[in-house]
Amino acid sequence: MADAFTVSGHCLCGAATYTAMASSQDVSACHCGMCRRWTGGPLLYIHVDDKPVFTGADAIGVFRSSEIGERGFCTKCGSVLFWKTAGKDSYTFTAGTLDDQTRLRFTREIFIDDKPDYYDFANETERLTGAQSTATYLDSSDKTE
Ligand SMILES: [Zn+2]
Ligand SMILES: [Zn+2]
Repeated sequence: MADAFTVSGHCLCGAATYTAMASSQDVSACHCGMCRRWTGGPLLYIHVDDKPVFTGADAIGVFRSSEIGERGFCTKCGSVLFWKTAGKDSYTFTAGTLDDQTRLRFTREIFIDDKPDYYDFANETERLTGAQSTATYLDSSDKTE
């Protein structure tokens, strides 16, 4: 929390923008099959505190992907914007949509046991299996599946 700072971001076409308070500079990657199918690769994201402020909210679609998760995207250009806990204002935003990506550091990978063999990140990260990810995140509602 000490590292919290304001972030802003937008989709590829610019129809949807957001402002939020980042919990920290930490970026996580999720290798689960749902995230890979949604984005075409691992999902890279940051955690935010409180409810974000959106503009162009009418351009934001939300897909309920599981019991606990909802995935937000731009309905005009298809950009992947956020994963949130269903029914709660607990959001993560995709690192690639941030306006300023210079302050970030890549620190954690989750669902590492779901990662396919064709890629590996060279970064030194904390790596959690799906079971560990679920156990770690369930209480804080950060699970990304
Ligand atoms: Zn867009
Ligand atoms: Zn995932």
